[in-house]
Amino acid sequence: MARVALVTGGTRGIGAAICKALKAAGYSVAANYAGNDAAAAKFTEETGIPTFKWDVSDFAACQAGIAEVTAKLGPVDVLVNNAGITRDGMLHKMSPENWHAVINTNLTSVFNMCRNVIEGMRERNFGRIVNISSINGQKGQMGQTNYSAAKAGEIGFSKALAQEVAKKGITVNAICPGYIATEMVLAVPKEVLEKSIIPQIPVGRLGEAEEIARCVVFLADDAAGFITGSTLAANGGQYLT
Ligand code: NDP
Repeated sequence: MARVALVTGGTRGIGAAICKALKAAGYSVAANYAGNDAAAAKFTEETGIPTFKWDVSDFAACQAGIAEVTAKLGPVDVLVNNAGITRDGMLHKMSPENWHAVINTNLTSVFNMCRNVIEGMRERNFGRIVNISSINGQKGQMGQTNYSAAKAGEIGFSKALAQEVAKKGITVNAICPGYIATEMVLAVPKEVLEKSIIPQIPVGRLGEAEEIARCVVFLADDAAGFITGSTLAANGGQYLT
Protein backbone atom coordinates (compact mmCIF):
# COMPACT_ATOMS: atom_id res chain seq x y z
CA MET A 1 0.00 0.00 0.00
CA ALA A 2 1.27 3.46 -0.91
CA ARG A 3 1.84 5.83 1.97
CA VAL A 4 -0.74 8.63 2.22
CA ALA A 5 0.44 12.25 2.05
CA LEU A 6 -1.77 15.26 2.85
CA VAL A 7 -0.60 18.69 1.70
CA THR A 8 -2.40 21.82 2.95
CA GLY A 9 -2.67 24.58 0.37
CA GLY A 10 -1.80 21.89 -2.15
CA THR A 11 -3.60 23.20 -5.21
CA ARG A 12 -1.44 26.18 -6.13
CA GLY A 13 2.16 27.41 -5.97
CA ILE A 14 4.64 25.52 -3.81
CA GLY A 15 1.93 23.19 -2.48
CA ALA A 16 0.96 22.04 -5.97
CA ALA A 17 4.61 21.28 -6.79
CA ILE A 18 4.89 19.32 -3.52
CA CYS A 19 1.78 17.28 -4.37
CA LYS A 20 3.09 16.45 -7.85
CA ALA A 21 6.52 15.46 -6.54
CA LEU A 22 5.05 13.24 -3.81
CA LYS A 23 2.76 11.58 -6.34
CA ALA A 24 5.73 10.96 -8.66
CA ALA A 25 7.57 9.43 -5.67
CA GLY A 26 4.73 6.91 -5.23
CA TYR A 27 2.57 8.46 -2.51
CA SER A 28 -1.21 8.52 -2.50
CA VAL A 29 -1.70 12.30 -2.27
CA ALA A 30 -4.53 14.53 -0.99
CA ALA A 31 -4.46 18.28 -1.57
CA ASN A 32 -6.32 20.64 0.74
CA TYR A 33 -7.27 24.19 -0.27
CA ALA A 34 -9.30 27.11 1.08
CA GLY A 35 -11.74 28.46 -1.47
CA ASN A 36 -10.34 28.83 -4.99
CA ASP A 37 -12.50 26.11 -6.56
CA ALA A 38 -11.41 26.93 -10.12
CA ALA A 39 -7.73 26.45 -9.28
CA ALA A 40 -8.53 23.22 -7.43
CA ALA A 41 -10.56 21.82 -10.34
CA LYS A 42 -7.77 22.68 -12.80
CA PHE A 43 -5.21 21.07 -10.47
CA THR A 44 -7.19 17.80 -10.23
CA GLU A 45 -7.76 17.75 -13.98
CA GLU A 46 -4.02 18.12 -14.62
CA THR A 47 -2.72 15.81 -11.90
CA GLY A 48 -5.51 13.36 -10.98
CA ILE A 49 -4.88 14.30 -7.32
CA PRO A 50 -8.09 14.66 -5.26
CA THR A 51 -8.73 17.96 -3.47
CA PHE A 52 -10.40 18.62 -0.13
CA LYS A 53 -11.73 22.07 0.77
CA TRP A 54 -11.52 23.39 4.29
CA ASP A 55 -10.04 26.30 6.23
CA VAL A 56 -6.91 25.16 8.09
CA SER A 57 -7.32 27.94 10.65
CA ASP A 58 -10.51 26.19 11.90
CA PHE A 59 -9.81 23.29 14.30
CA ALA A 60 -13.12 21.50 13.78
CA ALA A 61 -12.81 21.85 10.00
CA CYS A 62 -9.34 20.25 10.15
CA GLN A 63 -10.71 17.38 12.21
CA ALA A 64 -13.55 16.77 9.73
CA GLY A 65 -11.28 17.26 6.70
CA ILE A 66 -8.67 14.80 7.93
CA ALA A 67 -11.45 12.28 8.68
CA GLU A 68 -12.65 12.66 5.08
CA VAL A 69 -9.14 12.18 3.66
CA THR A 70 -8.65 9.12 5.90
CA ALA A 71 -11.96 7.61 4.75
CA LYS A 72 -11.05 8.09 1.07
CA LEU A 73 -7.28 7.37 1.02
CA GLY A 74 -6.36 5.87 4.39
CA PRO A 75 -4.61 7.26 7.47
CA VAL A 76 -2.24 10.16 6.91
CA ASP A 77 1.43 9.09 7.02
CA VAL A 78 2.91 12.33 5.73
CA LEU A 79 1.53 15.76 6.63
CA VAL A 80 2.86 18.83 4.85
CA ASN A 81 1.69 22.07 6.46
CA ASN A 82 2.11 24.41 3.51
CA ALA A 83 -1.02 26.64 3.47
CA GLY A 84 -0.13 30.24 4.09
CA ILE A 85 -1.10 33.83 3.47
CA THR A 86 0.46 37.28 3.81
CA ARG A 87 -1.21 40.49 4.97
CA ASP A 88 1.75 42.86 4.95
CA GLY A 89 1.90 46.24 6.64
CA MET A 90 4.06 48.19 9.03
CA LEU A 91 3.14 47.45 12.64
CA HIS A 92 1.96 50.98 13.33
CA LYS A 93 -0.66 50.51 10.63
CA MET A 94 -1.46 46.80 11.08
CA SER A 95 -5.03 45.94 12.02
CA PRO A 96 -5.77 43.25 14.60
CA GLU A 97 -7.63 41.41 11.78
CA ASN A 98 -4.48 41.21 9.65
CA TRP A 99 -2.42 40.09 12.64
CA HIS A 100 -4.85 37.30 13.56
CA ALA A 101 -5.51 36.19 9.96
CA VAL A 102 -1.80 35.56 9.37
CA ILE A 103 -1.14 33.92 12.75
CA ASN A 104 -4.22 31.71 12.43
CA THR A 105 -3.66 30.62 8.83
CA ASN A 106 0.10 30.10 9.04
CA LEU A 107 0.71 28.99 12.63
CA THR A 108 -2.47 27.96 14.46
CA SER A 109 -3.21 25.80 11.41
CA VAL A 110 -0.07 23.80 12.15
CA PHE A 111 -1.42 23.01 15.63
CA ASN A 112 -4.87 22.25 14.19
CA MET A 113 -3.49 19.82 11.62
CA CYS A 114 -0.83 18.14 13.76
CA ARG A 115 -3.18 17.72 16.71
CA ASN A 116 -5.60 15.82 14.47
CA VAL A 117 -3.04 13.42 12.94
CA ILE A 118 -0.59 12.91 15.78
CA GLU A 119 -2.49 10.27 17.75
CA GLY A 120 -2.86 8.06 14.66
CA MET A 121 0.82 8.47 13.82
CA ARG A 122 1.77 7.57 17.40
CA GLU A 123 -0.40 4.44 17.28
CA ARG A 124 1.12 3.35 13.96
CA ASN A 125 4.67 4.25 15.06
CA PHE A 126 5.30 6.20 11.88
CA GLY A 127 4.85 9.74 10.67
CA ARG A 128 6.49 12.51 8.71
CA ILE A 129 5.51 16.12 9.35
CA VAL A 130 7.03 18.86 7.22
CA ASN A 131 6.20 22.49 8.00
CA ILE A 132 6.78 25.09 5.30
CA SER A 133 8.15 28.08 7.17
CA SER A 134 10.08 30.93 5.51
CA ILE A 135 13.39 32.75 5.38
CA ASN A 136 11.45 35.67 6.85
CA GLY A 137 10.76 33.62 9.97
CA GLN A 138 14.52 33.26 10.39
CA LYS A 139 15.70 36.78 9.66
CA GLY A 140 12.57 38.93 10.12
CA GLN A 141 11.20 41.15 7.37
CA MET A 142 10.11 44.75 7.53
CA GLY A 143 6.36 45.02 7.00
CA GLN A 144 5.82 41.41 8.09
CA THR A 145 5.71 41.30 11.89
CA ASN A 146 2.67 39.01 11.62
CA TYR A 147 4.18 36.70 8.98
CA SER A 148 7.68 36.64 10.50
CA ALA A 149 6.21 35.79 13.92
CA ALA A 150 4.05 32.99 12.47
CA LYS A 151 6.90 31.52 10.46
CA ALA A 152 9.36 31.70 13.39
CA GLY A 153 6.63 30.04 15.45
CA GLU A 154 6.50 27.14 13.00
CA ILE A 155 10.23 26.53 13.53
CA GLY A 156 9.86 26.46 17.33
CA PHE A 157 6.78 24.25 17.07
CA SER A 158 8.66 21.80 14.83
CA LYS A 159 11.59 21.55 17.25
CA ALA A 160 9.33 20.98 20.26
CA LEU A 161 7.08 18.39 18.62
CA ALA A 162 10.11 16.62 17.13
CA GLN A 163 11.33 15.89 20.66
CA GLU A 164 7.90 14.74 21.86
CA VAL A 165 7.41 12.15 19.14
CA ALA A 166 10.96 11.06 18.29
CA LYS A 167 10.59 7.66 19.98
CA LYS A 168 7.41 6.98 18.00
CA GLY A 169 9.03 6.92 14.56
CA ILE A 170 7.66 10.36 13.74
CA THR A 171 9.87 13.14 12.41
CA VAL A 172 9.01 16.83 12.36
CA ASN A 173 11.03 19.26 10.27
CA ALA A 174 10.72 22.79 8.93
CA ILE A 175 11.73 24.04 5.50
CA CYS A 176 12.52 27.73 5.06
CA PRO A 177 12.18 28.75 1.42
CA GLY A 178 13.64 32.01 0.22
CA TYR A 179 11.94 33.89 -2.61
CA ILE A 180 10.15 31.35 -4.82
CA ALA A 181 8.49 32.23 -8.13
CA THR A 182 4.83 31.71 -7.17
CA GLU A 183 1.82 34.02 -7.38
CA MET A 184 2.64 35.27 -3.85
CA VAL A 185 6.04 36.57 -5.00
CA LEU A 186 5.22 37.42 -8.62
CA ALA A 187 2.60 39.84 -7.23
CA VAL A 188 5.56 42.03 -6.19
CA PRO A 189 6.17 44.73 -8.86
CA LYS A 190 8.71 43.57 -11.48
CA GLU A 191 10.97 46.54 -10.82
CA VAL A 192 11.15 45.76 -7.08
CA LEU A 193 11.93 42.12 -7.88
CA GLU A 194 14.69 42.99 -10.35
CA LYS A 195 16.24 45.97 -8.56
CA SER A 196 16.04 45.05 -4.91
CA ILE A 197 15.06 41.41 -4.32
CA ILE A 198 17.00 39.35 -6.87
CA PRO A 199 20.30 41.22 -6.23
CA GLN A 200 20.10 40.00 -2.59
CA ILE A 201 20.08 36.35 -3.73
CA PRO A 202 23.62 35.03 -4.32
CA VAL A 203 22.48 32.45 -6.93
CA GLY A 204 21.01 35.40 -8.86
CA ARG A 205 17.46 34.21 -9.41
CA LEU A 206 14.20 33.32 -7.69
CA GLY A 207 13.79 29.72 -6.58
CA GLU A 208 11.37 27.32 -8.26
CA ALA A 209 8.52 25.61 -6.41
CA GLU A 210 9.94 22.26 -7.56
CA GLU A 211 13.13 23.02 -5.63
CA ILE A 212 11.12 23.15 -2.39
CA ALA A 213 9.17 20.04 -3.38
CA ARG A 214 12.46 18.10 -3.66
CA CYS A 215 13.24 19.00 -0.03
CA VAL A 216 9.83 17.69 1.07
CA VAL A 217 10.23 14.40 -0.79
CA PHE A 218 13.64 13.97 0.86
CA LEU A 219 12.32 14.60 4.39
CA ALA A 220 9.16 12.51 3.86
CA ASP A 221 11.08 9.39 2.88
CA ASP A 222 10.96 6.34 5.16
CA ALA A 223 14.78 6.44 5.07
CA ALA A 224 14.91 9.98 6.53
CA GLY A 225 14.12 8.82 10.06
CA PHE A 226 17.27 10.28 11.63
CA ILE A 227 16.48 13.82 10.47
CA THR A 228 14.15 15.48 12.93
CA GLY A 229 13.76 18.92 14.49
CA SER A 230 15.86 20.36 11.69
CA THR A 231 15.36 23.57 9.75
CA LEU A 232 16.27 23.22 6.10
CA ALA A 233 17.03 26.51 4.36
CA ALA A 234 16.42 26.64 0.59
CA ASN A 235 17.06 30.27 -0.20
CA GLY A 236 19.76 30.56 -2.87
CA GLY A 237 22.31 31.59 -0.24
CA GLN A 238 20.36 34.70 0.77
CA TYR A 239 20.46 34.01 4.51
CA LEU A 240 22.96 31.68 6.12
CA THR A 241 22.35 30.44 9.67
P1 NDP B 1 0.07 30.51 -2.85
O1 NDP B 1 -0.60 31.79 -2.46
O2 NDP B 1 0.55 30.34 -4.25
O3 NDP B 1 -0.89 29.27 -2.49
C1 NDP B 1 -1.44 29.21 -1.21
C2 NDP B 1 -2.22 27.93 -1.04
O4 NDP B 1 -2.67 27.88 0.33
C3 NDP B 1 -3.46 27.84 -1.90
O5 NDP B 1 -3.69 26.48 -2.26
C4 NDP B 1 -4.56 28.32 -0.95
O6 NDP B 1 -5.86 27.82 -1.27
C5 NDP B 1 -4.07 27.73 0.35
N1 NDP B 1 -4.64 28.39 1.53
C6 NDP B 1 -4.55 29.70 1.89
N2 NDP B 1 -5.23 29.91 3.03
C7 NDP B 1 -5.77 28.71 3.39
C8 NDP B 1 -6.62 28.29 4.44
N3 NDP B 1 -7.04 29.12 5.40
N4 NDP B 1 -7.01 26.97 4.48
C9 NDP B 1 -6.59 26.10 3.53
N5 NDP B 1 -5.78 26.45 2.51
C10 NDP B 1 -5.39 27.74 2.44
O7 NDP B 1 1.29 30.35 -1.80
P2 NDP B 1 2.80 29.89 -2.04
O8 NDP B 1 2.84 28.64 -2.83
O9 NDP B 1 3.60 31.05 -2.48
O10 NDP B 1 3.25 29.59 -0.52
C11 NDP B 1 3.10 28.31 0.06
C12 NDP B 1 3.77 28.31 1.44
O11 NDP B 1 5.15 28.63 1.30
C13 NDP B 1 3.19 29.35 2.39
O12 NDP B 1 3.15 28.83 3.70
C14 NDP B 1 4.17 30.49 2.30
O13 NDP B 1 4.16 31.28 3.45
C15 NDP B 1 5.47 29.73 2.14
N6 NDP B 1 6.55 30.49 1.53
C16 NDP B 1 6.43 30.99 0.26
C17 NDP B 1 7.47 31.68 -0.31
C18 NDP B 1 7.41 32.20 -1.69
O14 NDP B 1 8.40 32.83 -2.11
N7 NDP B 1 6.36 31.98 -2.44
C19 NDP B 1 8.70 31.92 0.43
C20 NDP B 1 8.74 31.34 1.73
C21 NDP B 1 7.69 30.65 2.24
P3 NDP B 1 -6.81 28.62 -2.34
O15 NDP B 1 -6.21 28.34 -3.68
O16 NDP B 1 -8.14 28.01 -2.14
O17 NDP B 1 -6.74 30.07 -1.96
